[in-house]
Amino acid sequence: MRRSRYDLRREDLAELLAGEPRYRQDQVWEGLYAHGTDPQDWSNVPKALRARVSEELPPALELAAESVSDAGDTVKWLWTLHDGRQIETVLMRYPDRATVCVSSQAGCAMACSFCATGQAGFDRHLTTGEVVEQVVRARSRAAADGQRLSNVVFMGMGEPFANFDRTWEAVERIHRDIGLGARHLTLSTVGVVPGIKRLTEASLPVNLAVSLHLANDAERNELVPINKRYPLDVLAAACHDYVDATHRRLSFEWALIADVNDTDRHARELADYARPLRAHVNLIPLNPTPGYPVRGTPPERVRRFAEQLQDLGINATVRRTRGTDIDAACGQLRATHAPSTGVDLVAKPRAAR
Ligand code: SAH
Repeated sequence: MRRSRYDLRREDLAELLAGEPRYRQDQVWEGLYAHGTDPQDWSNVPKALRARVSEELPPALELAAESVSDAGDTVKWLWTLHDGRQIETVLMRYPDRATVCVSSQAGCAMACSFCATGQAGFDRHLTTGEVVEQVVRARSRAAADGQRLSNVVFMGMGEPFANFDRTWEAVERIHRDIGLGARHLTLSTVGVVPGIKRLTEASLPVNLAVSLHLANDAERNELVPINKRYPLDVLAAACHDYVDATHRRLSFEWALIADVNDTDRHARELADYARPLRAHVNLIPLNPTPGYPVRGTPPERVRRFAEQLQDLGINATVRRTRGTDIDAACGQLRATHAPSTGVDLVAKPRAAR
């Protein structure tokens, strides 16, 4: 398999640059991670070495399209990988911080009916370098606009726990070498229990989000097929062990879908499931996708659902949707840039703010 710029571990780089003194290797590593700039810009590194790094370690991501929404505060990139596969990354800017939403797989095998990535199916796992480079690119873009990238969420295309090893190596690299602390990183899973168990044992205190959407097996089996493999009681047990061992807060994601999971009964089921785990609930009104005809819950009902949860003793937040007009919102990533109502700017490096 082809090795891209961020696929190498520090010791792999040492091997590749075996003839170079240690401090030169450090300069290259810093150029890649601390600065995240192109080798050509490393003025402290000799030209020949810069050229060598450029040639032997090509970037993994080639920009295919950029779309901008929310007056420039949401940017979505479509990248082409070396084998022609495509993935998407979304940068969300807020007044005081910037969050990048990265993909962990090209496509997804989990087949959740309401998610555009699931509707399109699975292509392949991403390498560590392909994940890390999404963060580096987003950081550069934020920096160009005077902003610091503060958070990474693994909520783009794919199921991170179906690609655990490479994803975890990316987490370690983002924490240690890029310097975004583990507490600013969030892994989101549909409920792949072995991954939750591994995270329970893991050394870095990253955040965990579980995409729940339904709290009874009969209905969840339909919407989230992996529930047949890891049913709700098994999932709850893994979550319980996680919270017990790590003392970290768990969150549940709940995409509100009209009449599918937004009734009073659903609120009660969710509250009963979340309460013993002291989980926080994030409510996301369903974003439209081509393969799922059902509507999102109307705003009035969203508010009521949130109030019901609060009355039942559950902390719930309604998430503001970003980038729906450019198909950049939760569940809309599918790597086909159909013409959208948003602005599609092909390979334009900077958005007007
Ligand atoms: N596979 C992981 C990572 C993807 S995160 C996971 O399932 O957690 C993407 C989030 O968006 C998940 O919570 C997913 O359930 C949610 N989602 C998917 N489709 C959506 C849609 N159409 N509207 C709103 N949220 C959606």
